[in-house]
Amino acid sequence: MQGKLLVIGFGPGSFEHMTKRAQEAIQESDCIIGYKTYVELIQELLTDQEIISTGMSEEVSRAQAAVRLAEEGKKVAVISSGDAGVYGMAGLVYEVLIEKGWTEDSGVGVEVIPGISAINSCASLLGAPIMHDACTISLSDHLTPWELIEKRIEAAAQADFVISLYNPKSGRRTRQIVEAQRIMLEYRSPKTPVGLVKSAYRDREHIVITDLENMLNYDIGMLTTVVIGNSSTFLYDKKMITPRGYQRKYTLNTTEQRLRPHERLRHENEPWALHQGKNDMEIVKVEASATAAAEKEVIPKASSLELAIEALSIVKDGSTEIKGTKTVDNPVVSIFELAVSPGVVNKQFTPKQMVTLAEVVGEGTMEYTTHHQIHLRIPTTSPENITEKLKSAGFILEPLGDVSQLKACDFCEGEKKDSIPYAEELHQKLSGLELPKELKVGFNGCGMACYGAVNEDIGIIFRKGKFDLFLGAKTVGRTAHAGQPVAEGIEPDHIVELIERIVYEYKEKGHPNERFFKYFKRVGSIQGYIYKDMTPKIEIEPAPCGD
Ligand code: SAH
Repeated sequence: MQGKLLVIGFGPGSFEHMTKRAQEAIQESDCIIGYKTYVELIQELLTDQEIISTGMSEEVSRAQAAVRLAEEGKKVAVISSGDAGVYGMAGLVYEVLIEKGWTEDSGVGVEVIPGISAINSCASLLGAPIMHDACTISLSDHLTPWELIEKRIEAAAQADFVISLYNPKSGRRTRQIVEAQRIMLEYRSPKTPVGLVKSAYRDREHIVITDLENMLNYDIGMLTTVVIGNSSTFLYDKKMITPRGYQRKYTLNTTEQRLRPHERLRHENEPWALHQGKNDMEIVKVEASATAAAEKEVIPKASSLELAIEALSIVKDGSTEIKGTKTVDNPVVSIFELAVSPGVVNKQFTPKQMVTLAEVVGEGTMEYTTHHQIHLRIPTTSPENITEKLKSAGFILEPLGDVSQLKACDFCEGEKKDSIPYAEELHQKLSGLELPKELKVGFNGCGMACYGAVNEDIGIIFRKGKFDLFLGAKTVGRTAHAGQPVAEGIEPDHIVELIERIVYEYKEKGHPNERFFKYFKRVGSIQGYIYKDMTPKIEIEPAPCGD
């Protein structure tokens, strides 16, 4: 009979967090080898397996026994908590096998079964502290010189990794965590969030959220994992969160990422990234000559430290000091995005407003859009200051993305003013509302409709004291068409409520990314208005010269 080694990570400890394969492997094994506490944790799964449980520090003899039994033809489960490849038994088992000249083709079978490691299980209980570049460091110096561990802590602290400390403290090893904290404090703020998770997903689970300065005031032991945040990790409602990137791009009123995937990658939206072909950042040059093969030459234009300092200075307005003082106090700079316009009806900017725009935008960008708005992108640490200044200059501020927007005309510079209050009420009730897709509500103050309300998703036209309504224009593409005239003579008292019902129906029932006209076509009727196909039939003559 061919023996086999099943090297199993059984996860943090609870049955629900063990993989199906780990459970099967335990059940199909003839014998189980593991540390006593671990064997107890998987007790419920055992049937008639032979149990070889040993003390904590006997890993080598456990691995040797496992290999010997497998060579005798047994299926041997070697169990580790978490993942067997993370400070677990997997490496040791291979080391013992290699010592014996094992190869995959000639030797016993080996299957390493992955499990949820403490970094993941503990992170899940703390919130989302890992999220970005992170590392694990074991503070156990039984098999690793302390000097090396110290170096790693320092390097990780300096590089702003989120750090998970495994084996932080035991009865005899008590100084290591004190030293680790001391090193960390040289690089990170004392207020850096720290999570202490003891016995994650086990009976005595205990979670503490504290900070770097105070972490040692709490119980830390053999069963604790210490998760130290990076410089942008923050606490929210007792959860520890690390943002996905240092550069958060966000827009007014909404937590969702508003840039489309292709927009996100544009250079102007990632000023901190190392872009292809940017001369001053180019570090590798390929030289080819007629006789020699192409040869790679590394041009040491900038050291990685210099590049890092340059990058940080872009992010932080040049206030970084890396050498000398070690503390990197890193406020999160984000690209704040919003749209501004001078008013719902008013289309005129005052010179003072233009000056305010120039001041708040600073190094950011301003783009005039097809929607009577200026789109602002401003790197900042405090969007509140920006919104305050813009509001006091009389701007209307609107979020970007899949929201509704009212596009009113200028009502002949306010002369045709009877319907203006309805436009303003609609703006107040609907502008900025999150929807499956962007939605423009055109509102024109007379039958001329020269601001093109009929060409918007929803068109409202004030004519002879009442309203005409158009729904479902196709606003873009070769088959663009006006909206379907669905009603005329709507009483002014009803218009706001009717439009609200239409927009909220679309909000609730539209599929994500489904434009309004597609929704109308799919459902066939909105608030009793029946869909008619308005798509123009286009016949295009073939080009005279072929294709
Ligand atoms: N192979 C394991 C790690 C073993 S080293 C894994 O991948 O998770 C032992 C250390 O792991 C402990 O000192 C503790 O820091 C961490 N650890 C393991 N299980 C844990 C749990 N359930 N809760 C918190 N920390 C745990």
